[in-house]
Amino acid sequence: MNILYINGPVQNGPFTIAEQPGKAAGIRAAEALNTLLGTGPAPHLWNTVTLAGDLRHRHACDIVARQEREDRAIAAKYTPGTTPAGGILTDSTPVVAALALEMTERLLLQGALTITPTTVHLCSRCGHMTGTVAHTCRACGHQASRPRTRRLLVWDRPPGTPVLARDDFHAHRARPPRHLLTIAQNIPQRLILSRTRDHGISLAPLGLDGLVLDPRAGLHIAVLAAATQSDAVQPVMTITENAAANVAAYGTLFRQHNGTRLRYALHGRIPYDDTTALQRLCDVHHVSPALRELFLAWFLPLCSLHLRAGITPAQLPSLLKFWRRAHLARPDTPRSEAPAELRHRITAGDMRWVMDVRTLSQAIPDSPTSHGSTTEPEGAS
Ligand SMILES: [Zn+2]
Repeated sequence: MNILYINGPVQNGPFTIAEQPGKAAGIRAAEALNTLLGTGPAPHLWNTVTLAGDLRHRHACDIVARQEREDRAIAAKYTPGTTPAGGILTDSTPVVAALALEMTERLLLQGALTITPTTVHLCSRCGHMTGTVAHTCRACGHQASRPRTRRLLVWDRPPGTPVLARDDFHAHRARPPRHLLTIAQNIPQRLILSRTRDHGISLAPLGLDGLVLDPRAGLHIAVLAAATQSDAVQPVMTITENAAANVAAYGTLFRQHNGTRLRYALHGRIPYDDTTALQRLCDVHHVSPALRELFLAWFLPLCSLHLRAGITPAQLPSLLKFWRRAHLARPDTPRSEAPAELRHRITAGDMRWVMDVRTLSQAIPDSPTSHGSTTEPEGAS
C-alpha cells in the first residue's frame, strides 16, 4: 500500500488560483489528504497540451519558446513568491514524454496499439485534424475539410473490453456514477491517440512526424510519472466527473505501468464564486478570516470528494455551521499526526469522515499547507 493523491492536470488557462480557486480544488484536496497520510508532497500537475494554448500562443511575436511560456503562465497562477512544496509537473515535460514513449512503444510491441493508415478529415485551411467525421475546424473555425488517409496511432478496442470499471475508482462503498460507466461503454471501437497540435509529446520518434500523443492519454501518464518520482505505486488522481467522462477512455491503456496503478477519486464542484452569503454568515457568527480561509481552502475541497455531485451554494451555511462545531471540538492536545483510524479510512478511499464531527475535529490543521491557496504559505497563521 503506497497511496499518493495527485491532482488531475489542470488546464493552463489565463487565470490565477486566487481568481478561480475552484480550479485548484483537486490540488487542494490531494494536498490535504497526503498531509493526513503523512505522504507527499506531490507535485502540482498542469495540462499544457491544449488547443486553447495553441491558439493563445500561435500568433506570439516574441521568440520565447512555447514550453517557457507555459511555465511562466503556471508560475503566475500562484501567490507571488510561493511555489508548491512538491514542485510542478506539466504533461509535456521530458520525464513525462520519456515515459509516454516507453509505454507507447511497449503497447505497440504487444500489439495493443497500432500505427494504422486511417482516413481522417483535415481542415483545408490550417491542416488541423478534425477527426473521423467532418466538422468545423476547432483550431481556426474554417468549415471545409478534406478527407485524407494518414498513418495514425490507434487503439482498436477488442469487443467487450471495458474502458472503465468499478475498481478504477478509489472509493470505498461509493459506486462510480452509473452514467459515467455508460458513457465509457459508448465510445467508438477505434480511438485515435495521435493529434495535430503545436505543442505536446511528439510522436516523431515513432515515425509519426507532426503528431503528438492525445493529451487525454498524456494526462494519465503525467500522473504515473509523478507517482514514480515519489515511489508511490498507487497514485489516486483527483478529477471531476465531467473531466473523467472526457478522458477516461483515452487512459484505459495508460493507467498501469510496471506495477504502478492509477485510480480516480471523483470530486464535485465547489461554489467559490457564490460565497457572498457565506461572508455575511461569517460576519454574523464571528468566524475569523483565518477560520474562513481554512474552511474554503481545506475543508471544502475535502468535502467535495464526499459530495461528489457538487456542493450547492444552499449547502454552504450548514457546512459552515458544521465546520465551526468541528473546529470547537478540536482536542486540547494537538496531534502531531492524524490518528491511525483516519489514515486507514483515507487509504481505503472512504471519505465519509469529513461529515463526522469527531473525526474531522482531529484532522483539522492549524493552517492550510497549500501553496496553491489564497493564504500565506506555511508558517503564517
Ligand atoms: Zn483549421
